[in-house]
Amino acid sequence: MKIKHQIRRLQISCPEPFDVEKILLQSHKHRMLFRAFEEHMMCCSKCFRTVRKIHKFYEILEKELQKKASPEVVAFAKSVYSEKSEV
Ligand SMILES: [Zn+2]
Repeated sequence: MKIKHQIRRLQISCPEPFDVEKILLQSHKHRMLFRAFEEHMMCCSKCFRTVRKIHKFYEILEKELQKKASPEVVAFAKSVYSEKSEV
């Protein structure tokens, strides 16, 4: 009698963009889910586009974070915080 080994694969359908981001950000924690999504994304143009948009977003965010904060914005933020702590 032969025993057939089957590789169980997790198959997923399109997650919401918010969940796509979570899958990507927590890829180290949930390897199976990440691999399943990676496989899904290869043949799903919708999720592929979502990943590209997320990538673009983080690229812009990274650039913005490298810029120096404007002194006016910092002063405004400080005044808002001090008003809040007084209440
Ligand atoms: Zn999809």
